[in-house]
Amino acid sequence: MQPPRLKNDCFALPPGVDWTPVDEAQARLRDCLSPIAQTERLATTRAEGRYLAQDAVAARSNPPCANSAVDGYGFAGGIASGAVQILPLVEGRAAAGAAFGAVVPEGHAIRILTGAPLPKGVDTVVLQEDVTVEDGKIAFYGPVKQGSNARKAGEDVAAGAAVVRAGARLRAAELAILAATGVAQVEVFRPLRIGVLSTGDELGALGTPLAPDQIYDANGPMLLSLVARWGYAPVDLGHVGDDRDALRARLDSARGAVDVILTSGGASAGDEDHVSALLKESGSLQAWRIALKPGRPLALGVWDGVPVFGLPGNPVAAMVCTLIFAEPAFRVLGGGQWRAPHGYSVPAAFRKNKKPGRREYLRARLTEGGAAEVFASEGSGRISGLAWAQGLVEIDDGARQIAPGDPVRYIPFSSFGFD
Ligand code: AMP
Ligand code: MG
Repeated sequence: MQPPRLKNDCFALPPGVDWTPVDEAQARLRDCLSPIAQTERLATTRAEGRYLAQDAVAARSNPPCANSAVDGYGFAGGIASGAVQILPLVEGRAAAGAAFGAVVPEGHAIRILTGAPLPKGVDTVVLQEDVTVEDGKIAFYGPVKQGSNARKAGEDVAAGAAVVRAGARLRAAELAILAATGVAQVEVFRPLRIGVLSTGDELGALGTPLAPDQIYDANGPMLLSLVARWGYAPVDLGHVGDDRDALRARLDSARGAVDVILTSGGASAGDEDHVSALLKESGSLQAWRIALKPGRPLALGVWDGVPVFGLPGNPVAAMVCTLIFAEPAFRVLGGGQWRAPHGYSVPAAFRKNKKPGRREYLRARLTEGGAAEVFASEGSGRISGLAWAQGLVEIDDGARQIAPGDPVRYIPFSSFGFD
């Protein structure tokens, strides 16, 4: 199965827009993307973490037949009166996996255990704790509603129903209901293969000595970690200098091995911004100028049919742009659904005078008392602030004067799928 390739201009923004608001940029991305990962049929037990490519249809009902919800005694019909009831017990019992084959005659009761199919002649169960057993009889007080402590066949899921929808990610709960309804195989997307490439003449790999004017590649390990944590297949494309031919060769070398490429650095319009230059050369560059701090232009394009997300080089900006744009985009490309992260309104533990005209994300974490404190410096080169933080405070595009105690929106890193 070969999914459609992305069109060269798929990332085009409406003309005339100068600084695109985050919401608009996200809506644009959501609308232009569709799944590109390949699909395969897998045993359900091997499909953990995958996105479902087709609705999964229940092969049998859950529960498959009426059964007891408790350990107790089963009989037919409810009891309206509050008087003491005495019922003779039939021989034998009904247990999970060992059904009682005969009919329970009217006016009789049977010992029944949790999960046991209700024998013929039983539709109601009284809890063993409410019963006295003596001389082959049980005694208990009414009233007991008809159908008490009994589960109906198919009351949870009926055979033939779509039990998990296409686009859902198969997690513990989905695997449980698929197994319960007898779905042994599922059509799922292969994990999206995401190439991560760092760019810049100043970069060196960890473990090698560097000249004073060089820095270690921080984005590579950061982005590879996010990609792996999100359940995709990370492909380490290393780093290349600010050299268009080298960059072209590296992108070409990834052909067939990746579904998406995430680059960092060189994404603006300067002399050494070779990611944008190369995408421009290929005719697919869409330089998104997003009204967002931290974050400068995002360079989006398509290289040989493969979508490229050109992130800013600054690690704080690269992280924020990845969380805000790339993560939901990967979900869609990988066969899932666009999802906005859950945020929570909490009191601010800081003061800030925010200018209008752009969305801001502050590195933040919660105090013991549940207020959001922010990292001491907003400097986007302060990578340590990312490690200090446990989430982001999102401040909307307008102007805002924030004083301690004012409500702010806090998005924990767990809402972005990592923590
Ligand atoms: P650029 O977007 O290429 O102009 O880079 C912006 C800033 O981020 C510069 O200070 C770069 O040195 C820095 N930078 C770029 N790539 C990385 C990287 N992979 N790791 C750490 N810092 C980087
Ligand atoms: Mg650079």
